[in-house]
Amino acid sequence: MNFADSEVVASILKKDGYKLTDKAKDANLVLLNTCSIRDKAEQTVRNKLKNFNSQKIENKDLKVGLLGCMAERLKEKLLDQEKIVDLVVGPDSYKDLPNLLDQVEHNQKAVNVILSKSETYGDISPVRIHNNGINAFVSITRGCDNMCTFCVVPFTRGRERSRNPDSILREINELNEKGYKEITLLGQNVDSYLWYGGGPKKDFKKASEYQKLNAKRFSDLLEIVASNFTEIRIRFSTSNPQDMTTDVIETMAKYENICNYIHLPIQSGSDRILKKMNRLHTRQEYLELIKKIREIIPNCGISHDMITGFPTETERDHQDTLSLMEEVKYDFGYMFAYSERPGTYAARHFKDDISPELKQRRLEEIITLQQKHSLERNKRFINSKCSVLIDKSSKKSDDYWSGRTSENNVVVFPKHNLSLGDIVDVKVNECTTATLIGDIYKVKV
Ligand code: SAH
Repeated sequence: MNFADSEVVASILKKDGYKLTDKAKDANLVLLNTCSIRDKAEQTVRNKLKNFNSQKIENKDLKVGLLGCMAERLKEKLLDQEKIVDLVVGPDSYKDLPNLLDQVEHNQKAVNVILSKSETYGDISPVRIHNNGINAFVSITRGCDNMCTFCVVPFTRGRERSRNPDSILREINELNEKGYKEITLLGQNVDSYLWYGGGPKKDFKKASEYQKLNAKRFSDLLEIVASNFTEIRIRFSTSNPQDMTTDVIETMAKYENICNYIHLPIQSGSDRILKKMNRLHTRQEYLELIKKIREIIPNCGISHDMITGFPTETERDHQDTLSLMEEVKYDFGYMFAYSERPGTYAARHFKDDISPELKQRRLEEIITLQQKHSLERNKRFINSKCSVLIDKSSKKSDDYWSGRTSENNVVVFPKHNLSLGDIVDVKVNECTTATLIGDIYKVKV
């Protein structure tokens, strides 16, 4: 999401006469778009800020700005107290950047961290930065209303609002005309997408208004996008189990160009912990959703996010997480040790009582199990044919392309005379936990 937001920022500044440079040392302005999701993310940003500040000795004109969630969370702190940035701009205030940069020029305090109930940047065509011309992100919602007790996002990104489908279609059309082959529809919680003419999701109360306002839910949006752009592969992220409806899965099954992949974070396999996290579903409901997905889309790639060491997590809760993973056998997973975030419900009400060593031990256990499952799941592709979109050169060898299957598996294979952006059939010969290795079968015409 920050990647997509940075492209919006680049677009706003380009209009204001700025040019992009690849090299930080050539820049007069460095903007760091930041994440607050875990403490480690914030520490990384602090180190980077220190580096950029040391460049000011050589480049006296250099200005350094803090964008995104850390700006929203810490507000003036890094400007007034720590004096390591020149401007502070929250996620909903990027249109104010030209004005704020003007204030910096005039040695005035440049801070805007006002959260909005309507801002979606729908009218801005993002400038694609460091892009391969093949895959692009398209934001469809901003903010989050879910209030998971561990999560800082609702505080840094504000209330949930959806973008006008017309402006989403306009952006995808531009990408299509430029030759992009795959888009990812982005939101903190895409299943919660609801367009009813604008405004925060929480202000839309009556289901009876749905018809009258010609409202669009996520499944409607998916259908519109898939049927209008049949040559583009469509992905989306992230889904929340409590909001994902059967219509979404059915729409995925109906359109071949919607990829068979769902990222479905659960965070814990223990009902007690799920409740404490304010995840509004049980383990059983989640498993039923997985079952439904596999009934409707048998080969669907499914991944998870998991947190170890949430306050009060016992060995038994941890075993519940491991057993859930055994039941589901995910294709991929993103796993984290709990990091207490100031201001969240968990930080205010629960003691961070699991030691770092224990969080780490449990984390290693779930990572090891996930690797085992990823390998097992990858093996099912051996000797079969996959349709792969080539999106880059393989990291390990310049003679190999790397691409993804519809299920989101990475596939590498010899380049032959193929090009970036080609969609090819690959026969998989072997695999590792992270990669399928094969050779082309035949080139699609
Ligand atoms: N709305 C997005 C959340 C993005 S954050 C989504 O549902 O995917 C991505 C992941 O970071 C979360 O799913 C969670 O597993 C992890 N995370 C969030 N807050 C965390 C915290 N305080 N400590 C550790 N991991 C956290």
